[in-house]
Amino acid sequence: MTVQLRPEVQLHPEADLLLDYAAGSLSPALCVSVTAHLHFCDKCRAQDIALSEIGGDLLSSVGPEKMPENALEKVLLSLNSAEISDQAETIPIINEDMKKLPAFMSNIIAEPQFNFLTRSLKVAKIPIGENKYELALHKISAGGKTPKHDHRGLEVTVVLYGSFSDLDGTYNEGDFIIREPGDVHSPVATIDDECICLSVVEAPIRLVGPILRMINPFLSFSPV
Ligand SMILES: [Zn+2]
Repeated sequence: MTVQLRPEVQLHPEADLLLDYAAGSLSPALCVSVTAHLHFCDKCRAQDIALSEIGGDLLSSVGPEKMPENALEKVLLSLNSAEISDQAETIPIINEDMKKLPAFMSNIIAEPQFNFLTRSLKVAKIPIGENKYELALHKISAGGKTPKHDHRGLEVTVVLYGSFSDLDGTYNEGDFIIREPGDVHSPVATIDDECICLSVVEAPIRLVGPILRMINPFLSFSPV
């Protein structure tokens, strides 16, 4: 069943996030999430190109500055997703999960190691070398429901394959969903196929419900 989203639900990165992305100043995990959205969204990709051009003009009018540490890695990650896709297409993708994902993801992870969190939810963490955010893939089986949970920090979810719903509506491939601290939801994958999402989690989330609350301290759990 497809549920209409409330009109105020935003499914694209906000302008300031795109600006930081174009400037190369986003953290690596957030950078990957925006790159994933740009792979699907022509509108935001056009905005990114425009912002990058403005940034280039500004840079050409100022003198040279010392580059920050890891600047090269950040720039490589924030490359236009179309360019990244072209590079990735030369690498044969053999993993069945990776075949469903945008090609640029194979530059970040070759073979995701999914572990069960619940009967219908698996997670594969993506090591990216930063402390503030955790990057992971979440896979919900067809029709599977994830436990109700709330958020203590910012969480970004990008749907990479399939779709899922919560009380706010249905989210499809490319949708960029931001959850603020205090938001509570319980995503359900659509019945016809599994759903794979990229997620960036700022702080551990807390399961809701008496039994889940009891086991929660022992779980590393960061669902979509
Ligand atoms: Zn967009």
